[in-house]
Amino acid sequence: MSDPLDERDRAGGPLAVVAREAGPYLDGLAARPVHDRSMDALLDELDGPLPAAGDGAVAAVERLVRVGTAAATHSSGPRFFHFVVGGSTPAAMAGDWTASLLDQAAGLWLTSPLAARAETVVLRWLKELFGLPASFGGVLTPSATLAHVAGLASARSWWAERYGVDVASRGLSGLPAMPVFSSGLVHVSTRKALQILGCGRDTLRTFARDDAGRVDLAAMDEALARTGGRAVVVANLGEVNTGDSDPIADLADLAERHGAWLHVDGAFGLFAALSPRTAHLARGVERADSVTADGHKWLNVPYESGFSFVRDPGGLSRAFGAWGAAYLPDADGERVNYNMLGPESSRRARALPIWATLRAYGRDGYRQMVERHLDVAAHLGALVEAAPDLELLAPVQLCIACFRYRPEGVPEDRLDALNARLGEALLADGRVYAGTSTYRGMTVFRPAPLNWRTTKADVEQLVHVLRELGPTVLE
Ligand SMILES: *Cc1c(COP(=O)(O)O)cnc(C)c1O
Repeated sequence: MSDPLDERDRAGGPLAVVAREAGPYLDGLAARPVHDRSMDALLDELDGPLPAAGDGAVAAVERLVRVGTAAATHSSGPRFFHFVVGGSTPAAMAGDWTASLLDQAAGLWLTSPLAARAETVVLRWLKELFGLPASFGGVLTPSATLAHVAGLASARSWWAERYGVDVASRGLSGLPAMPVFSSGLVHVSTRKALQILGCGRDTLRTFARDDAGRVDLAAMDEALARTGGRAVVVANLGEVNTGDSDPIADLADLAERHGAWLHVDGAFGLFAALSPRTAHLARGVERADSVTADGHKWLNVPYESGFSFVRDPGGLSRAFGAWGAAYLPDADGERVNYNMLGPESSRRARALPIWATLRAYGRDGYRQMVERHLDVAAHLGALVEAAPDLELLAPVQLCIACFRYRPEGVPEDRLDALNARLGEALLADGRVYAGTSTYRGMTVFRPAPLNWRTTKADVEQLVHVLRELGPTVLE
């Protein structure tokens, strides 16, 4: 077996292997440990020299699926609470398979009217879901980090224009550093985007009035005045340790008063807009100049999925559209060339899983899911408060509970090491996944239940396993 052409009449064969295994795998996800380290030995079966004569598609895919379903981190199941990680709804996963099946070149309208139209439609649906103005432009990206790149590239073009420079054409040379201000809630990916854009990750200045990172509006106001408004304000909707958010409307007022650019990082927090219980947190986001969110977190579509929305649809094309190559047709109404609006050139039809899941569950289904997660997180917070050996460190906000293990008799200066050991023990145990983070200088757990499968029983198990393992790592 060597030439793929030999298999052209049997192309469905390897897909049938995946389809056959998919049902049992997905149905068994909830019962599996999140990670079984004894399975890591199977990874050797992926290794070895580059085959000269191949195995053929069915044999190769059978091996991949056998190793994969056993050795994967089953992070799309209901008890993966390490970092902010979503799963994939049944409809989203099937939509993603469809994107692979059709293998569209989704950069240009010409190569795939299907992908272009689907992207236009899902961007419109998402704006509606989040309460963003229909007039906003947008583009799908592989992640929130790349959505930051899209939004902040628009900001950078706007900012450089105020110095009379077309930065897409000329670059940044000769310009001063672009002032970027945020609170202490800012996510590291914003700095990464600034680093990618040549603005420098350390040019971002934070204005915090406490060690939880909450914004110092007065200090930011003064600093903005000194820039004459030629600055970018980054507001954070959903911080990864506690779910805390900046007062978006206050930052919108500030940006508006100074004529600065407002960028909102709502990677997962933008979903607060879906429930009347939390919509107030997102109020003001409709006044932003650019907004970032993720699909592969709370929307529960497969990796890689993010979105960037911008107030001025022309901003994205000014930042990304200047290819000048004659074979690339222009955008024209519905005939949008999405590779002119974002950092990618060739790209997949990542609108399809988003389309499938929004079509399948609708606004009401997503609202129900988000509200279930709010309840699950609140339940977790209550369990932590009720446990004598656990300490809740911040009010539960959105979908995150931030706490640490604090059994009686352990001195404060031993707690960080103790919690780090407990985090390691939890990951090694594998039944529930939640590692540690640092919050206000403390080593903490900050599980974020936002997988569509997760229910109260899953966070009950988290608390149960933590309290079972705790005494085993005491010194
Ligand atoms: C996850 C996250 C990001 C980065 O998202 P990626 O999709 O991993 O690039 C940015 N901001 C916040 C608040 C996040 O939680």
